[in-house]
Amino acid sequence: MNHTVEQNENKQVLVVDDDTTIRVAEAADGEAALTMLADILPDVILLDVMLPGIDGFTVCRQIRNHPDGKYVAVLMMTGLDDVVSIKQAYSVGATDFITKPINWRILGYRVNYMHRANQAFQELSKNRAQLLSAQKIAHLGSWDWDRVNDKFRWSSELYHIFALDPATCTGTYDTFIGIIHPLEKERVKMTIEEAVGSQQPFRLDYKIVLADGTERFVSTEGQPVSDRQGRFVRVTGTVQDITERKQAEVQIRSLALYDNLTGLPNRILFYDRLEQAVRQAVRQHSMVAVMFIDLDQFKDINDSMGHNAGDMLLREVGQRLLSVTRSTDTVARLGGDEFTLCLQNVPSLDVICTLAQKLMDTFSEPFTLESKIIFVTASIGVAVYPNDAGNADDLLKQADTAMYFAKEQGKNNYKLFSPEMQIETDTRLTLQSEIRLALERNEFCLHYQPQFDTLTGKLKGMEALIRWKHPDKGVVFPNTFIPVAEATGLIVPLGKWILSEACRQNVAWQAMGYEPIKIAVNISAVQFKRSNIVDTIRRVFECTGMAPHLLQIEITESSLMQLAKPIVVPRTKGQPGSPEAPSPQATEEDDSIINTLDTLQKMGVSIALDDFGTGYSLLSHLCYSFIDVIKIDRRFVWAINAWEGSEIISTIIETSKKLSLQVTAEGVETEYQKTYLLKEGCHEVQGYLIGKPSPAEDCVKYFTQEQEQFVKE
Ligand code: C2E
Ligand code: CA
Ligand code: CA
Repeated sequence: MNHTVEQNENKQVLVVDDDTTIRVAEAADGEAALTMLADILPDVILLDVMLPGIDGFTVCRQIRNHPDGKYVAVLMMTGLDDVVSIKQAYSVGATDFITKPINWRILGYRVNYMHRANQAFQELSKNRAQLLSAQKIAHLGSWDWDRVNDKFRWSSELYHIFALDPATCTGTYDTFIGIIHPLEKERVKMTIEEAVGSQQPFRLDYKIVLADGTERFVSTEGQPVSDRQGRFVRVTGTVQDITERKQAEVQIRSLALYDNLTGLPNRILFYDRLEQAVRQAVRQHSMVAVMFIDLDQFKDINDSMGHNAGDMLLREVGQRLLSVTRSTDTVARLGGDEFTLCLQNVPSLDVICTLAQKLMDTFSEPFTLESKIIFVTASIGVAVYPNDAGNADDLLKQADTAMYFAKEQGKNNYKLFSPEMQIETDTRLTLQSEIRLALERNEFCLHYQPQFDTLTGKLKGMEALIRWKHPDKGVVFPNTFIPVAEATGLIVPLGKWILSEACRQNVAWQAMGYEPIKIAVNISAVQFKRSNIVDTIRRVFECTGMAPHLLQIEITESSLMQLAKPIVVPRTKGQPGSPEAPSPQATEEDDSIINTLDTLQKMGVSIALDDFGTGYSLLSHLCYSFIDVIKIDRRFVWAINAWEGSEIISTIIETSKKLSLQVTAEGVETEYQKTYLLKEGCHEVQGYLIGKPSPAEDCVKYFTQEQEQFVKE
């Protein structure tokens, strides 16, 4: 028995034959051939039908069943005219046959040809397999619609995309359409029919619903195919599962248009909706209202309770706003603690006011953040199309302006936009840039008003009061520009200048040989909030050389209240309004203002509570312990007239003394007032009667001239 594998130009040919004359490289029988196949994989096998042992047909069948034998070219040798054997050879998987006796020259060509054809076939199979796997990776299925025979053929990946089992379901056009989402079915069907009718390619994205109810997104493309005669015979196409891409798109869209924290529309989407609403209102002659909602204490809460609590609050606010609005209204978060509302088809201004009030009411309920109960209020500005503005841009701006006025007027209220607000805003804007310029050009100066000791009749101190020597308007008084400077933060650089100028002047008076006096400087809440006031004051002492105990800072009662917010009530202590409602407690924010006042006091600076009696008088006792002087507001001093005194003044002085506080009365204009205050035991007096605020050089006289006037008879 011989079996030979001939290695020839990279080709391996295994010959299996018992006729020794034609063996080229051989195995003498089927068994031997199959054993050999385990080690060597030839490219071509010449296989005789008649073999000892198992016959050639069986060997061929087994070669085909062998995992590597699928693509081997098998050339079966049959007897001449043996048609039955030829037929059987093909049926067991032979590639071709050749009749015996063998023509050797021809055999060479046949083997070569067969080898080439087989290689092409293998290549094709490999490509197909690669294509299938690529389609699988790309979730790309394909289909073919034979229009002549109305047959639909699907690739295996298409079954996979549609989650259908090819064993139990045949891919038909109806199945293809049946799986489309009910809301999209008509659109898809129409597009396909139109494309097929006009023999145009088409592309469509739509939703499908799988048997288990899952929804997926697919993209389908189709291309009509014509035969050689130009007749339209088929449509071929692909279906790609684009669910992941769609989901990513939705996510990107939502990131771009919705606020991450609250899930509400963001500025971009709000603006878009507002524009749409205005366009519709123009067509329908209806009204659109924009509400601009700004929380009053958000920064305080964020600073004192941390960002987590701040975030929780914003989310809760968003929910509350949604709860009082209709589904057709848009509630958005513009950023920070700014929310906006767009109301379409508003029947009347009354309805808007009612809703604004409803919004205010939702804030009257306390918020629970990290097991603390917080009271938060909001200021709301409202602008209406067509009354206040004709486009989205202006509406939003006017609502913002109105909100600003709501804040100005004590917060926790709502304001409808009015044209006067716009004028005032414009004036304020002009003023703002003028103040900036004035600072650069040194147009500010300080006037001083004397404060006298009622007991000794001596000059005790001077209050520095700012004036603006405006190049066109003459002297401008602080009430017109200080609020703007505060609102814009310009009070910080201005305040620094005031402090150093006042201290410098005080040192200058001393240098002129006068008795040291204290200098009182007004400090606004903004300076505490937006700058490090302790640092500023320390630096002023360094630069001017003034002794710290000669500085008195005046801070108004309302400023202090503002700095002491928010009001936080421990949760267990009952709700405000209820009989057991607790009084507001000191918060961390209180701590920071208290710490500042404490540091200043330790440095030797004294602290005066200005305009006393005009604020809420809600200050906690903690705050009072960091105050040295109470300045009774001039409105109470006015109440003292020629016929009677003032109950309030008497009470204030009495209580202050109990708390060991000094009392200064400001705005003293008449002898009667002065005498009354003296009698009540007020420590210091200040007012036009004693001395008007005037430039430093005019104040020199107070150091000497006026000393005698208070000495008691
Ligand atoms: P204020 O701190 O209550 O200052 C007292 C105001 O009353 C001053 O007005 C003063 O000129 C005025 N005044 C003094 N005596 C009398 C009197 O007998 N009768 C009447 N009717 N008025 C009297 P002024 O200078 O116009 O200041 C107004 C407010 O502007 C001040 O009120 C203070 O709140 C603020 N201000 C003034 N200067 C400064 C400053 O340098 N910094 C800051 N932050 N605010 C300042
Ligand atoms: Ca003052
Ligand atoms: Ca005052």
